Amino acid sequence: MPREYSFMKVIVVSGGVISGLGKGITTSSLGRLLKARNIAVTIVKIDPYLNVDAGTMNPYQHGEVFVLDDGTEADLDLGNYERFLGQSLNGSHNLTTGKIYRAVIEKERRGDYLGNTVQIIPHVTGEIKRMIRDVAQVSGAEVVLVEVGGTVGDIESMPFLEALRELSYELGEGQMAFVHTTLVPFVGPVGEAKTKPTQHSVRELRAIGIRPNLIMARGAAPLTPDIKAKISLFCDVPPEAVISVPDQHVVYEVPLVLEAQGVGALLTRILKLPDREPEYGAWKEFLATYRREEGSVEVAVVGKYTELHDAYLSHVEAFHHVQGRLGLAVHLQWYDSEDLPRSPAALERLRRSDAILVPGGFGPRGIEGKMLAIEAARREKIPFLGVCYGFQMAAVEFARHELELPEAHSTEIEPHATDPVVCLLEEQQGVDGLGGTMRLGALRVMLQPGSRIAELYGRTEIYERHRHRYEINPKYLERFSEHGLEATGRSVDGRVEVFELDDHPFFMGVQYHPEFLSRPEAPHPLYLALVRAARVRQEVPPSVAPAAASA
Ligand code: GLN
Repeated sequence: MPREYSFMKVIVVSGGVISGLGKGITTSSLGRLLKARNIAVTIVKIDPYLNVDAGTMNPYQHGEVFVLDDGTEADLDLGNYERFLGQSLNGSHNLTTGKIYRAVIEKERRGDYLGNTVQIIPHVTGEIKRMIRDVAQVSGAEVVLVEVGGTVGDIESMPFLEALRELSYELGEGQMAFVHTTLVPFVGPVGEAKTKPTQHSVRELRAIGIRPNLIMARGAAPLTPDIKAKISLFCDVPPEAVISVPDQHVVYEVPLVLEAQGVGALLTRILKLPDREPEYGAWKEFLATYRREEGSVEVAVVGKYTELHDAYLSHVEAFHHVQGRLGLAVHLQWYDSEDLPRSPAALERLRRSDAILVPGGFGPRGIEGKMLAIEAARREKIPFLGVCYGFQMAAVEFARHELELPEAHSTEIEPHATDPVVCLLEEQQGVDGLGGTMRLGALRVMLQPGSRIAELYGRTEIYERHRHRYEINPKYLERFSEHGLEATGRSVDGRVEVFELDDHPFFMGVQYHPEFLSRPEAPHPLYLALVRAARVRQEVPPSVAPAAASA
């Protein structure tokens, strides 16, 4: 093993029994425990699917596609890592089977294997280890957490677990810890806790040569000491290493739940790291404010994936961050944009929301509903935030109703629209293929001095993450402005990034995705402003509410 890797310490988080146990939150929380001890840490996610990245996947299958600064379209867990660690990551932190195989096949074609038969072991496993080591080296982290997606026993995850087993052997004693997340279901009339699924999945893990150091038992309720003792005995881990992780009111509680069971001290002992007094500072303040819940606001979210809230995870989290800053409960109400045009009752309910968010999206389904929601927000002066597609649809709605261009549309939907107010980026014309070909990642946006948005950010130059192909057609800008819709943010090369409406308490659209940069300890200014405006709207007595005035 090259000398430069000898410092590396690794914590592997695997999962058993079922998927969807919140391994990402467990991994992020473990990272936070170490960070609280002033240990430099980073996280790598392994996704054992053949897609090279998450960019081409439907949000209904894996939830939201999370965009990193460098433009990588990543699994949503990367978002959890960034939020829990308060660190920005890059594409090397998301390994997929597709990425590994592509690298191996490219090497084979170049002739790098010098005539050898190229095999899963040692070549694919070797590539996996190399990529993990590279992350350790480049990030300079003392500890790299590696979350293995999927469930132990899946064919897909085998090469990854084998690579990690090999790595543990190569790194030697005290350099690596294995954490296994399982489910302890509560069944029957008295809700008896069942340990058998955990026993089976640990056996599966041991069959591939990995012995867990810690077991994270997920379940609806805390484990009793006798259940912990039972898991300990059957799974060959000390009772203090069987950790109970019951469902929490909000995921940001999990690091403290783990801390209370001594996980931080245990991990530092296993990895021979100094166990400093943990420092949670702002994190604890965030939770204390979050729990206050003095008053509440209702924010309507209008999209087409409303049945799976994970499809909008970063938006949901951004509102949690606001709650932790304002001490005000933020309740999200989900509206299916496809239903809205045929449900007057839903539209009526939407009109009574304190604020409306229209997030990003693609394609024609549900756009008329999004425009109905935007029109309601605009005319009835309901605070509104439009993100990416939501911003583009706000421009289309405005053009149709205020500029009197009934045929206005985005060329994404109507390639030959009479009034293409949203059209293809010049650089996108002639682009083939859907993987990694959008305008992606963190880009500089210049805000107009004195504008509302510049005031909210407290500066006139920002970096925000992007993921889109279409943009506002500059031909229509003058007319937008004459009618009160101002472009108050531009990219360095002049593309419209922000719209804000005059004579409205809060109506803002952004081409970029602010949700990706909101953090518990640093809520995003646009989400804060939206919720603050929602609160103000509540306080205005209905008889003098602007809605009544404009009706
Ligand atoms: N479909 C739009 C585009 O490609 C918006 C994308 C998005 O909302 N992320 O430009």
